[in-house]
Amino acid sequence: MAMPTSVSFSVRDGEVRVHAIRTGTVTIKRCHHTCCLPERSPMALRFAAILGDRRFADPLPIWTFVIEHPERTIVVDAGATPDYNDDSSWRRDRRGGSLIRSFIRIGVEPEETLPAQMIELGVSPADVDAVVLTHQHIDHTASVPAFANATIWTTKAEDRAAQQVGAFWWRWRNADTTIGHVDVEGAPQVGDPQGFLSGVDLTSDGAIRASHTPGHTPGSVSVRLRTDACTLWFTGDTSFTARSMNPTEPTAGIHTDMRAVRTLHASLRGEDVILPSHDWDNPERLERAGRVVK
Ligand SMILES: [Zn+2]
Repeated sequence: MAMPTSVSFSVRDGEVRVHAIRTGTVTIKRCHHTCCLPERSPMALRFAAILGDRRFADPLPIWTFVIEHPERTIVVDAGATPDYNDDSSWRRDRRGGSLIRSFIRIGVEPEETLPAQMIELGVSPADVDAVVLTHQHIDHTASVPAFANATIWTTKAEDRAAQQVGAFWWRWRNADTTIGHVDVEGAPQVGDPQGFLSGVDLTSDGAIRASHTPGHTPGSVSVRLRTDACTLWFTGDTSFTARSMNPTEPTAGIHTDMRAVRTLHASLRGEDVILPSHDWDNPERLERAGRVVK
């Protein structure tokens, strides 16, 4: 099991700590990892290519991030848990379950779950009052129920599309889950860098903002953290790696809107610190940007 990477930055009101915590790995088909059809191909064809691909790519890390700001502790994504690979846990949804499990393999040890690793770091899940979901796929939502006192931030667009994009609400959401929406009706979205001006500020100093950045899924969210030294972007699955934001590099085959994703990449490329959810290089990038906390 990999140890979390903890880095500190200064912000106006003091210090912010960012912990990159890996909750196991996800293994997907090669046509899912990098698109094996022309990018302009309709989503349905790209999805069929993924299902038809018999080859799996190398495992990808599943990152979650805990941001300790002087005002509050915020979690970006809730990762995966071992029960996704347990047949009995899918009994409520046999059909959807077997489809998902035919093209996604999750590998998480019990000690690798997000709450278990937070407790090791001395951060109590009960003290978290905001969890931002970059989107609602299974490898980003599993530990949501561990944050009983948190508002779960997503988008109305993601809620509307949730049943089409492989999000299994019954696994993480019930009538008591407090949901907040970061998308603002009529606000500029992806394609316009100004889109990042809209969204929800999660701290009063404006350091942490969640914005609606559709492309990977219709309701995907990115989180921006501004520190005195640099800006960090938690971009979810907008690209699996920071490198694949370059237009000459292949991107994932599963994005619902390829053009929106490429436009988003162009607006983020060159920004200070890009932290996608599945990039093996995130720890090095974080350590170069801030002060490593032992
Ligand atoms: Zn993912």
